[in-house]
Amino acid sequence: MHEISLVQGLLHQLKELAKEHKSSRIITITMEIGPLSGVVIDSFRFGFDILSADDDLVRGAKLIVQIPPVTYTCTECGHKETTVGKKPGECLKCRELFLIHEGGEELMLRQVEME
Ligand SMILES: [Zn+2]
Repeated sequence: MHEISLVQGLLHQLKELAKEHKSSRIITITMEIGPLSGVVIDSFRFGFDILSADDDLVRGAKLIVQIPPVTYTCTECGHKETTVGKKPGECLKCRELFLIHEGGEELMLRQVEME
């Protein structure tokens, strides 16, 4: 599962942050995961639950996942469609299949609350 290694990367990043801020416990983590990042959010959460249970720094921390909206532009008629979830299969105006997206691939650590 590819998400496990992403969670490991996140935990590593959190350790560095905690060291910087001389913190020993992380309370809340806010991640932004784009719908086109290829990350399965349920698997990410699952991986987080497993790995964080074994880690003093993040045990019991709350993971908040934000899914940013993505704007798709039709290559045929220029129609723009913004969605928060799944990618539209075709242009809603002219049914063109090739849509260009702006963003949606982010996998970002947005905010960390620690004590
Ligand atoms: Zn179109």
